[in-house]
Amino acid sequence: MDASLINTFAAYGGAVGQRVAGASEAAKLGAVAVVVRSMASNNDDIPHTGTLHYEEGVKAIPAVAISTNSADLLSKAVADDASLKLYVETHCKTLPDVLSYNVIGEMYGSGNTDEYIVVGGHLDSWDLGDGSHDDGAGCVQSIEVLRILKGLKYTPQKNIRAVMYMNEENGLRGGLKYAELASFNKEKHIAAIESDRGGFTPKGFTISGSEAARTSLMSWKHLFEPYTIYDFGKEGGGADIGPLKDQGTALIGFLPDSQRYFNYHHTGIDTFDKIDKRELELGAASMAALVYLIDKYGIDGNP
Ligand SMILES: [Zn+2]
Repeated sequence: MDASLINTFAAYGGAVGQRVAGASEAAKLGAVAVVVRSMASNNDDIPHTGTLHYEEGVKAIPAVAISTNSADLLSKAVADDASLKLYVETHCKTLPDVLSYNVIGEMYGSGNTDEYIVVGGHLDSWDLGDGSHDDGAGCVQSIEVLRILKGLKYTPQKNIRAVMYMNEENGLRGGLKYAELASFNKEKHIAAIESDRGGFTPKGFTISGSEAARTSLMSWKHLFEPYTIYDFGKEGGGADIGPLKDQGTALIGFLPDSQRYFNYHHTGIDTFDKIDKRELELGAASMAALVYLIDKYGIDGNP
């Protein structure tokens, strides 16, 4: 990952193809296995897992990810001795699918409305850690948004849902099913906010939607700036809310500080002790504020 990029998600985007497509690309050149340098912002001894896609018609060879320290060591050893042999043993396997569910909490709008605002994260995680940042944080923040609004005794005009999507990491089936049912039930989703970039200090919100929706979001930027939340309007939403795009929903991504996310992402150390309670709460509060603004003033120019 390119350490010169301040936005670690951009660095991840530039490197992750090596993991996703590396096995098939290597197999085309005759490789018997592939060893991937973990997608990480730091140097340590922790391997990072994640999606790998085998191309159809290409031999599916074994693939492993090793830590950044191990990768540096291995690269040096290969450079020093071209005849070096590497023994790879892996016991990974894909188990059969099981039935699972999205989990949804809802505050009913007072406005006798079929309009919805969704705030969500995803319940599943890669199984070697407990997925506290990816994406336990997003789930807890989504619940917290409803709790804050209730705590303030705020009665929303629109229906507000906290949605914990299932299966983001391995197929997006929760997000796809949610959008399918939303259309089937004629629920008009005016905005969806996703928190899936870790439970770190809030910095802003991305948006993917109409120009009018972007204009609405930008008009609220000054309300967040006193809290050092200033990064507004970059293109982007979230994986789970993405399928709502067909409805014309304004898709909004919660954007926290990204410097430490890829130290933990998809590892055995993405655990609860890595969550800072205050940072998590600041993020939830910023999301609650945005939900309030959308509920009160609308987004897309139609209140
Ligand atoms: Zn995630």
